[in-house]
Amino acid sequence: MLPPMSALKNLGSEIDRASELRTSQSELDKQWAKAKIMHIVDARLAVQGSELHLLNSSEVNSLISSGKFLEGERYFLGLDRADGTSYFAWHTAWTNEPGSDEEKYSGFETLREIGSSLSPKFLSLAFHAIGLANWHEVHPRCSRCGAPTTVGLGGSVRICTEDESQHHPRTDSAVIVLVKDKDDRLLLGHNPIWPEKRFSNFAGFLEPGETFEQCVAREVFEESGITVDEISYMTSQPWPFPASIMIAFSAVTNKPHEAQGDGIEITEVRWFSRDEMKEAIKTGELLLPPSISVARRMIESWYSAQAGRDLGDLVGGESWRP
Ligand SMILES: [Zn+2]
Repeated sequence: MLPPMSALKNLGSEIDRASELRTSQSELDKQWAKAKIMHIVDARLAVQGSELHLLNSSEVNSLISSGKFLEGERYFLGLDRADGTSYFAWHTAWTNEPGSDEEKYSGFETLREIGSSLSPKFLSLAFHAIGLANWHEVHPRCSRCGAPTTVGLGGSVRICTEDESQHHPRTDSAVIVLVKDKDDRLLLGHNPIWPEKRFSNFAGFLEPGETFEQCVAREVFEESGITVDEISYMTSQPWPFPASIMIAFSAVTNKPHEAQGDGIEITEVRWFSRDEMKEAIKTGELLLPPSISVARRMIESWYSAQAGRDLGDLVGGESWRP
């Protein structure tokens, strides 16, 4: 379960990415030999119950020599600051892909599925590993000359085999906004691709040349038709689906009555006081975003900002995309 929003700023603090080790292949090999290794296939993580199923290097070797999985790639994730444990991701594929999804994905889950049951340390490692895997998967060739690229620096770059240019993983910036009015009510919107009754905060991608604040004002206006000010930074969270970082802000409008969905991305908007939210969750009229999302953290932080409010009021009213 993710920590409350106040603790999100420490997400990943248990891990030292130790980038100085990435330049030495012999050092990386040494770390690999004693590492705890996340097993990634088809953007899914190997799991055991509600935990990650971490392998050691000899287990990886047996899975390769048995012919079940290809050799794949190794991505160095860092060292545990507490005990020096080395963490890697092993990004591989089936040698012969099983016919049915059931057979394929038995023992594997997406980060969306497993994410909310992981500790902050493993959630952070998984964000890193899946973000890298997603990027490597779709960047087999050089964007300058089209030649094949290979994994370099422990998985932190790809290098062109022709012109030796280095290519770095891309992270797409997206803002997400907690919109309030002067009475401290919260505005949420419904996106038609979500399950019915699910409402969340407003969000969108940063465009070239835009500041975060401009992006906040533009996205809120586009999706809900209202102008906002008092824009302030709250927190951030990696969101590697496939390659985003969510940068969270709060903002205030003095024209709450003008709010309406754009009819495309947002088909319905609703204002909630805390009492109204509590009631809507109780009656099943409102489903909040899932607990792995920063949106959920933002809504919880607003809800619990008033003394005497219990986050238990919000439990149960959540869903994920089908
Ligand atoms: Zn090239």
